[in-house]
Amino acid sequence: MTAIDGKVVAITGASSGIGEATARLLAERGAAVVLGARRTQRLDELAQDIRERGGRAIGCATDVLRRQDLERLVGAAVAEFGRLDVLVGNAGIAKIGPVADLDVDGWSAMIDVNLRGVLNGIAAALPVFRRQGHGHLVTTVSTAGLTITPTMAIYAATKNAVRTLLEGLRQESTDGVLRTTAVSPGFVRTELAGSIDDAQVREQIVRNMGEIGIAPEAVARAIAFAVEQPHDVEIGDITIRPTIQS
Ligand code: NDP
Repeated sequence: MTAIDGKVVAITGASSGIGEATARLLAERGAAVVLGARRTQRLDELAQDIRERGGRAIGCATDVLRRQDLERLVGAAVAEFGRLDVLVGNAGIAKIGPVADLDVDGWSAMIDVNLRGVLNGIAAALPVFRRQGHGHLVTTVSTAGLTITPTMAIYAATKNAVRTLLEGLRQESTDGVLRTTAVSPGFVRTELAGSIDDAQVREQIVRNMGEIGIAPEAVARAIAFAVEQPHDVEIGDITIRPTIQS
């Protein structure tokens, strides 16, 4: 029996990388997981794999740009498992490159997925958390927002917007209903670089991820640490990066 055992956790961006690793770890520790992303075949395979290992999991097609999809994700948790204890707002893209490239569509896409996507999750989950009298919002932000480096400005801005948003929510939630946790990973070996259009920047990030990136399971363990705390303990910020990352 762990403090995660029996919790109901919905995760966006669960089809790969950090989201998938988090789903696997929390399910292994007894949580029922509701998996959201657009690549439904991956979600179905992951849910089946978790179930075959004795866990509880369902997939739910979710595009975080669509508010109704987030409502469906949260609704699926309540319908299937009776409630929602934790929402992990993890879906994200990184269309990084120099600001001077004026990739305005890429900027919009990042703002939409990384910020508006989290807001859509909050809009869906908060009423349920309030009704239940408890809830936990975890988001994946980034060390890119803590140490700004060239090509990362807009991506970092979206992540810092979410960090600010969570702090504001925390300030408004002193009634004890809501816990918030912002997890800031450094380089992690995932598919994230696939969303970078600039070939030179993509190559550099892929190289960094390959050479120094940590495994997504390490971030999953950090998320599990926040989730397993008793409800009167809130882990606000976690920074987790490769030991050799500057
Ligand atoms: P992945 O590319 O492996 O995962 C990204 C996930 O986001 C996928 O599951 C993808 O699913 C999902 N996603 C993207 N767009 C949408 C959308 N519109 N609606 C729903 N889901 C969407 O990369 P990571 O695991 O690395 O990324 C997870 C989070 O971690 C992101 O927020 C990222 O910014 C953050 N992060 C990653 C770091 C790294 O070095 N890897 C460092 C710091 C933070 P699908 O395409 O199926 O919809």
